[in-house]
Amino acid sequence: MKFLIFEGQEIHPKAIQILKKNGFNVQTELSSTENKKEIEAFLIRSYTKITPSLLDEYPALKYVLRAGVGLDNVDAKACEKRGIKVINSPGSNANAVSELVVCFMILLLRRIPVQMNLLRNGGWRSKKEIGSELKNKIVGFIGCGAIGKLTTEKLLNFGIKEILAFDPYLDKTTLKKRHAVKCELDEVLKKSDIITLHLPLNNETHNLINKDKLALTKKGACIINTSRGGIINEEDLLTALKSGHIAGAALDVFENEPDFRKEFLEFPNVILTPHIGGFSEEGDEAMAVQVVENFLKIYKTN
Ligand code: NAD
Repeated sequence: MKFLIFEGQEIHPKAIQILKKNGFNVQTELSSTENKKEIEAFLIRSYTKITPSLLDEYPALKYVLRAGVGLDNVDAKACEKRGIKVINSPGSNANAVSELVVCFMILLLRRIPVQMNLLRNGGWRSKKEIGSELKNKIVGFIGCGAIGKLTTEKLLNFGIKEILAFDPYLDKTTLKKRHAVKCELDEVLKKSDIITLHLPLNNETHNLINKDKLALTKKGACIINTSRGGIINEEDLLTALKSGHIAGAALDVFENEPDFRKEFLEFPNVILTPHIGGFSEEGDEAMAVQVVENFLKIYKTN
């Protein structure tokens, strides 16, 4: 079987070694148009868009392997229509993301980017910019799957007052086991000191956090998005930051990547990272190796 690797630099070499060891023919480039007809599997990362027109170019395609969690770059319906199996690596980088989220919470509350900016501009600490502690805060989760679960577990050691979660697909008992109280979205927004997003991007969640929802948040709340750009309306978030209603934000993901909105750079109380949530040594390897292992299990039983 012939594999075509997209975003080859981004795929951990161990995953490619496993494919080769199992006798698969792996290529990162196509030699001719003819060659497209022989490709039976893709291995992709985050930025290859699997569209119906791309699928049309590959009539023999049977598998799409996505190294990572989110499938927002794959047209699942078009794949299903062609009988193409889509395989990802759920949970593989969840620990990497959850560690970063806890780090963001502390950085935002202690206003670390603001303090750093003060020093850079020749200043020193000021009472005006004093930060606060995670202890006794109310933390709100929007989506509480693999990453949400690991994050709430880590938060247990911080003496959090309450963890609230809006996740319409998880029941009260499951969320309780994840140390969270099941709530409606508006309640999470109204009560939380810090809000963190851990849900997929799809038609239902695009612009879920817009100006109406941001208006419900406590004045001075902080917001963290390591899930997908587009779930928070960026224009509305900029407005809430400008007015000071939102005291700080940490954004790892953007509506447009890598060409993100540069206005965010103007805010010293905003932490911006280039989609590195799952991008640790360990997460990077696990994403690629696990998707190949998941594929092999399916391939061997077919
Ligand atoms: P997951 O599938 O384990 O959990 C997602 C949760 O969101 C589920 O519990 C689901 O019930 C819930 N959900 C679905 N629709 C919802 C809605 N409308 N409102 C509220 N909750 C909803 O996924 P995960 O591994 O926890 O990943 C969460 C997000 O993080 C995904 O968008 C994923 O793409 C993203 N992610 C980003 C990075 C990064 O590098 N920044 C890395 C890994 C994952």
